[in-house]
Amino acid sequence: MIQVENLKKDYRLGEETVHALAGVSLEIEKGEFAAFVGPSGSGKSTLLHLIGGLDTPSSGSIVVDGKDLSRASDGQLAAYRNHNIGFVFQAFHLHPTYSAVENVAIPLIFAGLGKTERLKKAREALEAVGMAHRADHRPNQLSGGERQRVSIARALVTDPGLIVADEPTGNLDTANGGRIMDLLGALNKEKGITLLVATHDAELAGRARRVVNLRDGLITGDTQHEN
Ligand code: ADP
Ligand code: ADP
Repeated sequence: MIQVENLKKDYRLGEETVHALAGVSLEIEKGEFAAFVGPSGSGKSTLLHLIGGLDTPSSGSIVVDGKDLSRASDGQLAAYRNHNIGFVFQAFHLHPTYSAVENVAIPLIFAGLGKTERLKKAREALEAVGMAHRADHRPNQLSGGERQRVSIARALVTDPGLIVADEPTGNLDTANGGRIMDLLGALNKEKGITLLVATHDAELAGRARRVVNLRDGLITGDTQHEN
């Protein structure tokens, strides 16, 4: 379970202070599929980055399974990211000279697995996203939707409890974006992975079971529905 309490994040830009998060509180249960939706600049990325341990808050707390990330050292945050979180980004962040399977295997280097075991697990993750037949392709040989599937496989390969996806459909057309959201939803259902997705697209957000609206660094709505 994730407990976020009065979370604030300020950025200084010269003389000005930007309140990227102005006091956000929410709880996320294990196994939830939640979308954070709001216009550009509303604080979605900042919130996901803080929950994913990529950055630390200005004040407030994020407690994940009883551990307070806001009090963690850099080393503890790195361990938390490597063991517990899978990240999916808008721009894929795939290594251009590596094949799909080699890209997916990268996070397992930190888990200390040998190469044969890494590639085996990476192939299994590619299978789970329907990309086994593209294992040996390089990113520039894949379509955008396929690249995002590979990056989802990379997020899955360490068996994380939580996947954090920041605008995962931002570089895709509507049809491919919808397929990626459906794939994420299916992985959430089948594997019980908690899934947090940031998107500015209200229609795509509606595919999540919970929709949290953000505006100017504050939560303005939080609705659950069946689907
Ligand atoms: P969203 O993901 O909803 O577009 P962000 O979390 O990226 O929103 O940004 C929230 C606010 O914080 C925006 O005003 C943005 O310009 C500002 N911001 C985000 N990151 C930085 C940064 N590294 N330095 C300065 N301002 C930032
Ligand atoms: P989309 O219709 O999703 O945009 P493309 O038309 O780009 O996809 O690609 C169709 C198929 O051809 C994809 O499955 C992709 O993996 C494969 N492909 C595209 N470019 C190359 C390439 N340069 N080398 C090998 N396979 C490729």
